[in-house]
Amino acid sequence: MNTGIAERGWSLPEAASAPSEDYRSALRRRLFAADLAVVLCWASTAGAVALYLLSGGVSQIHSKADAVTALGIIAGLAGTNLILIMLLLAARIPWLDRAVGQDVAIGWHRRLGKPVLYLILAHAALLTLGYAATDGLDVVGETAAFLSNRDMILAYLALALLLAVVVTSLVAVRRKFPYEAWHLIHLLSYAAVLLALPHELSYGGVLAAGTVERIYWIALYLLAYGAAAWYRFAKPLLLSLRHDFRVVSVERLAPDVISIHLRGRELGRLGIAGGQYATWRFWSARNWWHSHPLSFSAMPHGDLLRITVRGAGSGTAGLAGLRRGTRVWFEGPYGLFSRHARSAPNLALVGAGIGVTPLRALLEDSRHSGGETALLVRASDESQLYLWEELHTLCEWHGGTAFADVGPRSRATSSWLSADAVRRGVSLQSVFPRILHSDLYICGPGPWAELVAQEAKALGLEDHQIHLERFDS
Ligand SMILES: Cc1cc2nc3c(=O)[nH]c(=O)nc-3n(C[C@H](O)[C@H](O)[C@H](O)COP(=O)(O)OP(=O)(O)OC[C@H]3O[C@@H](n4cnc5c(N)ncnc54)[C@H](O)[C@@H]3O)c2cc1C
Repeated sequence: MNTGIAERGWSLPEAASAPSEDYRSALRRRLFAADLAVVLCWASTAGAVALYLLSGGVSQIHSKADAVTALGIIAGLAGTNLILIMLLLAARIPWLDRAVGQDVAIGWHRRLGKPVLYLILAHAALLTLGYAATDGLDVVGETAAFLSNRDMILAYLALALLLAVVVTSLVAVRRKFPYEAWHLIHLLSYAAVLLALPHELSYGGVLAAGTVERIYWIALYLLAYGAAAWYRFAKPLLLSLRHDFRVVSVERLAPDVISIHLRGRELGRLGIAGGQYATWRFWSARNWWHSHPLSFSAMPHGDLLRITVRGAGSGTAGLAGLRRGTRVWFEGPYGLFSRHARSAPNLALVGAGIGVTPLRALLEDSRHSGGETALLVRASDESQLYLWEELHTLCEWHGGTAFADVGPRSRATSSWLSADAVRRGVSLQSVFPRILHSDLYICGPGPWAELVAQEAKALGLEDHQIHLERFDS
């Protein structure tokens, strides 16, 4: 079975008290930062609309055609502003990660996708109609007139790219593409927003040369592209070079599960919190072209680090063949599925299958707060109890208990527990008697994790007590 903690040389966490006041003030700070992020998002959109008002746009409305053109300009300003916010939300900005976590930031990014598309389509349609009415042309004639201008050709190209990005991001369409193909298309959004810039600066008077409005707009672009360039590309590259991770060994835990042991430099400077993940790229002939988000399955020890992977598809399955010495690049550490999200004195952990990996590191990194700790691992059969001995030992060290619920799911009820546990009347409350005063960390397949979260909410847990890590992004 899995290698135990003592044999591997992992140490146990140090005891330290974490007064509940600490949790409360940390939670207050996080909620404030999250609210601030939302306020900034809407304030900047209002700012974009204000650009039109500042440029004296309203005083130029003398006819219906002018009004339609004005609405088109406002839709364009608001839509582009929101696209820039989408880029910022996906830029892996550490402040945002600490406030809401990458998954929530990416969730917001996704939710903005459709409204942005509608605003940009409205911008194109309203401006074509407005200009056509003013110029006395029909829609085709006005479009042809637009296309005689170089900046407008780029703008149409930007619109086509944006359409491709949004359509391929619709869940039903996205599933038809390999992840890497979808990701490559998605990166075109960076090109699309840049291609639209020349027509924003040259058409209409809102962003005319020498105006404050133009300086503000270019600053927004610089902020979004600067953050993306630094946090998504330059910083991960520099960190990968600095820490210089190499594969030390690949350990098979089950037919489809491996632990990859890595050696790197100056791991203390990474500031990893147990439960976090990084996106890993392995520079071998077979694997260099795909990267994967994988949680740390143990805290760094000396110059060693470990991740544990289940072969979910061809990309992760190929990692079993990694050789000693393979160079590894990474982006991270990311995520709020860690002690940084604590808000209550007790710790309740629920994991299924490979979802135990972040829980294992979280347990190792959790301070002994005097509260209770309990873990429940769900598996269809014993071969899926990955890292069980380590989890068990760490839980005992916390003075808590580790439970394993092994067996097939109940077909009659939609429960996250096994049929046997359902029959015996097991519930979240019976496993974790102090659940209402606990932080509940859940990691496993999406629909299963949702069932656990639903039961927790029905019991009365607040949203900030429930921490969910989804492996299916
Ligand atoms: C925060 C997080 C932590 C994770 N931690 C672990 C872990 O510790 N151990 C483990 O075994 N699995 C983990 N996963 C899941 C793992 O990343 C996927 O199973 C793996 O990437 C699948 O890749 P594939 O090519 O083998 O399969 P594919 O069939 O190509 O991909 C299956 C699905 O995995 C997701 N995926 C693939 N590549 C990426 C990527 N680069 N970025 C985001 N999503 C991607 C997509 O939803 C895709 O549809 C984690 C996922 C996330 C989001």
